[in-house]
Amino acid sequence: MDKLRDLLRLNEDQFNPWYLLVLVLVAYAFAIGMRMLWVGYIGDNAESFWNGQIMINTNDGYFYAEGARDILAGGNQPYDLSPIGNPTSQLTAWLAKVLPFSFETIILYMPAWVGALIVVPVLLIGRALKQTWLGFGAALIAGIAWSYYNRTMTGYYDTDMLVIVLPTLVLWSLILGVSHHQNRYLLITTFTIILYGVWYPGSYSLNLGMAAMLLLYTLIFDRKNIFNYKLLIFMAIAVVMLPIMLKFTISILLLVTFYLLKERIDLKIVLGLLGASVVVLAITGGLGPIFAQLTAYVFRGETAADASGTLHYFNVVQTVREAGDIPFDTFANRISGHVVSFILATIGYILMVIRYPVMLIALPMVGLGFIAYTGGLRFTVYAVPAYALGISFLIFWIAQQVGSFAQEGRNRTLLWGGAAAFGTALVLIPNIKHITEYKVPTVFTAQEVQVLDTLGKKASREDYVLAWWDYGYPIRYYSDVKTLVDGGKHSGDVNFPVSFSLTFPQTQSVNMARLATEYTEKAYHNKTHHDYLKSMMEDYQETDPDIFLSRLEHKSFQLPEKTRDVYFYLPYRMMDIYQTVRLFSNLNLRTGAAYARPFIYESRSFKDTGEKILLGNGIEVDKRTNRIRIGQQEVSVNALYMTAYGPDGKLQVRRQLFDMSAPLSLIFMRSYNRFMVVDQQTLNSTYFQLFVLESYDPELFEPVILTPLAKVYKLNR
Ligand code: MG
Repeated sequence: MDKLRDLLRLNEDQFNPWYLLVLVLVAYAFAIGMRMLWVGYIGDNAESFWNGQIMINTNDGYFYAEGARDILAGGNQPYDLSPIGNPTSQLTAWLAKVLPFSFETIILYMPAWVGALIVVPVLLIGRALKQTWLGFGAALIAGIAWSYYNRTMTGYYDTDMLVIVLPTLVLWSLILGVSHHQNRYLLITTFTIILYGVWYPGSYSLNLGMAAMLLLYTLIFDRKNIFNYKLLIFMAIAVVMLPIMLKFTISILLLVTFYLLKERIDLKIVLGLLGASVVVLAITGGLGPIFAQLTAYVFRGETAADASGTLHYFNVVQTVREAGDIPFDTFANRISGHVVSFILATIGYILMVIRYPVMLIALPMVGLGFIAYTGGLRFTVYAVPAYALGISFLIFWIAQQVGSFAQEGRNRTLLWGGAAAFGTALVLIPNIKHITEYKVPTVFTAQEVQVLDTLGKKASREDYVLAWWDYGYPIRYYSDVKTLVDGGKHSGDVNFPVSFSLTFPQTQSVNMARLATEYTEKAYHNKTHHDYLKSMMEDYQETDPDIFLSRLEHKSFQLPEKTRDVYFYLPYRMMDIYQTVRLFSNLNLRTGAAYARPFIYESRSFKDTGEKILLGNGIEVDKRTNRIRIGQQEVSVNALYMTAYGPDGKLQVRRQLFDMSAPLSLIFMRSYNRFMVVDQQTLNSTYFQLFVLESYDPELFEPVILTPLAKVYKLNR
């Protein structure tokens, strides 16, 4: 082992702090510059702009934007779910106050400028190991590595912008401390861990993982080193559940004590203090989150029914695509940009740990990144910094061997530098290629936002907008209203009424929408957040959910007192996810068993031969017999609906009725070039009636905004 470690030795550098600063700035500029490519690309599309600025490209961003907007406005409405206490929103609001840019500009560029800060801790880790150039190469790679870029690109406005920067700073503070044993570095650890905890409450387990690795490292390599135990004490103080100011005070007092008593503080005392801090950690409930997380992992996806007792809802985990397994090359690309670089980075990281055992402390971040392999793509970013350092280690070690072919002096430096630059460039190229090809659109188009903006001017802040959860955050940001569901509130029980209102006929839809709205407010007010449908059934003295839901079919159904208006937001883009929306209310509530899926077939490349309309996939409509052929089966067509926008911008709908008892209807949306075959239940759903056909019951609905991309109706009850 010692021989291998000797073989892996790299020449150490003695760097001037000014050079370090220049390298940080160069790496930072590179990371930002790469993030400007998307701006150039998306800037060509006028549909990406709102208020004179490009819109953001992540749905969740609108959540933090809503909070920041309300902080700046001086407050929010009760129960509107606006995150005014969220650190991302608070930082945004503060930046919007002190910087001379528009709010839209700040949320657009913040992820890029903040996320690119990853280059700082990565370079500093190199510097702490006296390998500043290695750190520089790693900083260039980490700054634009595939998944890290995706999660911190321009417009990807999310907490992600600091979620890797902060633990990497913690990692740096630990490596710095362990490598240099300076008491003053202890405070850097306290500070970075507290900062990380403020930004991301889930930071706890990663901190604990790094502490465990630090302990392991100490026990194996540096058992007698008193400093490492001090570092562990400061970590424990930083993560304990006590007020931040108190933790700072304790840390500073402790540090002063260490300085004053110097030699008299021996290993025994430090170990005693460490034991005491672990006890305090346990008493304040510090070990609870570990068990909570373990149970969450063990039982993930196993709960087919929500914990609601009698009613069984659809489990949202089943539709979140991210939670599935991912192929190896996708996983490798995400971390290193290429399968080859991933493998080399793995080898590099292992060699680096052999040469610098302190790099073991980065292992929990690598491990978290590897959870992605089964736990979902979003975790891969955690492995990026350690893997960038790993491959950089390999590159610089090889470069040193290459350099040794030349004589000491300028030639050797040139050869070494050239080889290192070449290797780093090879790793960067696939990542740069990814950036140039990753042309994600903005969440909404300007036309859609125009609808929400108009809606916001018509609706009051206390009104509710019923829409699928995907649109919850943007609706709240652009219209400043309330929503029933959103990107963070979409469990089976809360999705049920929304799914029901969108996919059932109009009378049932309206009754449910009114009930859901009033019961949501009531539950917030009474602080009894539980199953709304269950409370409704209790109040209406009904034990059978099917009977209760069928009672909603009547216009005479006695609704609770109306406290506010309710709007339906029906976008064209929901048509693509209609099947998913339907899943949440298309089930037996007593068993959780799903009913048969609705029949929806759509075609955008169809052909009219005169006698037949060919819809692809062997589906064809015989115009002479008005029958539709699907594979081997043939049924008659109920009706044909043809919709098109006239010169006046109004939707015109023509209906041809063929066979009232037939199970399928045809819809030809000429202006969208979309041909559909749907069953009668889908045809009669509120979404299809109101969005596709604009065929609303005026007793129930009143159109408010009708555009080709999104329609808004107001409830008339
Ligand atoms: Mg509000």
